[in-house]
Amino acid sequence: MSITYVSTRDKNVRVTASQAVLKGLSDEGGLFVPERLPEFDKTMDEFTSMDYREVAYNVMKLLLDDYTEEELKTCINKAYDSKFDIPEITCLKEADGAYYLELFHGATIAFKDMALSILPHLLTTAAKKNNESREIVILTATSGDTGKAALAGFADVPGTKIVVFYPKDGVSPIQEKQMITQKGDNTCVIGLKANFDEAQTGVKKIFTNPDLAKEMSDHGYMFSSANSINIGRLVPQIVYYVYAYSRLLKDGVIKSGDRINIDVPTGNFGNILASYYAGKMGLPVKTFICASNENKVLFDFFGSGEYNKNREFHVTSSPSMDILISSNLERLIYHISGNDSERNAAFMASLSKDGNYTITDDMKAQLDMFYGGFCDEEGTAQAIKSLYEKTGYIIDTHTAVASGVYNAYKEKTKDDTPTVIASTASPYKFTRSVMTALDKKYDSMGDFELVDELEKLSKVKVPKAIDEIRNAPVRHDIVCEPSEMWGKIKNFLGF
Ligand SMILES: *Cc1c(COP(=O)(O)O)cnc(C)c1O
Repeated sequence: MSITYVSTRDKNVRVTASQAVLKGLSDEGGLFVPERLPEFDKTMDEFTSMDYREVAYNVMKLLLDDYTEEELKTCINKAYDSKFDIPEITCLKEADGAYYLELFHGATIAFKDMALSILPHLLTTAAKKNNESREIVILTATSGDTGKAALAGFADVPGTKIVVFYPKDGVSPIQEKQMITQKGDNTCVIGLKANFDEAQTGVKKIFTNPDLAKEMSDHGYMFSSANSINIGRLVPQIVYYVYAYSRLLKDGVIKSGDRINIDVPTGNFGNILASYYAGKMGLPVKTFICASNENKVLFDFFGSGEYNKNREFHVTSSPSMDILISSNLERLIYHISGNDSERNAAFMASLSKDGNYTITDDMKAQLDMFYGGFCDEEGTAQAIKSLYEKTGYIIDTHTAVASGVYNAYKEKTKDDTPTVIASTASPYKFTRSVMTALDKKYDSMGDFELVDELEKLSKVKVPKAIDEIRNAPVRHDIVCEPSEMWGKIKNFLGF
């Protein structure tokens, strides 16, 4: 039986997997969700003898079921290759009793590479399958890491162009340098005088405006999304949780059928939702730990059932999690409302009108597998420092939020279930925050000096992604107001 994708806001919008990948977002603003989540057709023991690409195929084929075996395997082989700096693609590092799943071995040293290295191939394959002849224009708002990972994935991919908006003062210096030095004639990077939520809202408005869609189409273009609202991002992210479990099994840390905890530093709720989907498909998980930074809207939501974005926005040392509207939470809301698009649409209307909504008790009862925690700036720095002092292992600020939350969780619950912590970025991406967490004295050094200091302390070689940008020329210098976004896009496309 094949899988149909439906919109979270209109049950009459029903598409195939490849159509959902191609469209990114449904016309009325809903997100595509699989009508049912299929169960794995391999056992966890069978996964232990597979490499990453084989696990990827056996997981993704279940959800992207209108891609042929050859199409999907071609996409997987193009994505998970020597762009990654370890042949295993991802690996687990045990430190202080937790298992850090290093998802940052791709081209831009953040976990976004895990999905964005395959999305361009899923998308161009979907266009062919659906006889789409218009050129695909990827439009993306980024809190830092998506932008670069999407640019790296789409640069010079035939039949695509990509426009990235980032909050001009809301990303790390290395994140900004990575983006504005991007090569590729089909790429466009714009700094927005706004925060991430405003950037994301601006992009969503352009996406859902039928007049603009028509104008685009008249010029031979169509929009698609590389944000984590695209199901083509979510599905590849399920893979590494299965892979992680299978490695723990292979290494004898757990026995077949044992449950694990999964702890994810969360912003847009994409990565943790992928782990939840893995659980629904048969991965044995006890608790999903949702770790927030000081923008703790999700922590409050899991506690009270009220989602309320009306609050102060904090710029933190984990900028990729500085988010007050976690877009992918909508998919979870849809599922716990009984896959009811009308109920979900009402919540989302309330969110857009009043900035909040409150779920019902029966919905809240379905969230008992989630544990919401948060870690403030001091706790984040402390988590980096104490892990380093105990073990010599250095984690980035985002991972440190999850690490801090995990330590508090363990102390509170005494739960000693083996726990996988999603390690979402290399510490080299957030060198200044990481190094000053270790010692304030580093604050006086330049960004690239800090890179060399980090290499000495961590004994981990400077990744290629950092070496590359040291002396790279700036290729993108446009800055604009949110009201100018559409004009800038038209400029780039030439109409
Ligand atoms: C994007 C990102 C996150 C948040 O992931 P979501 O899927 O948006 O919840 C966490 N850490 C890093 C380093 C990121 O780039």
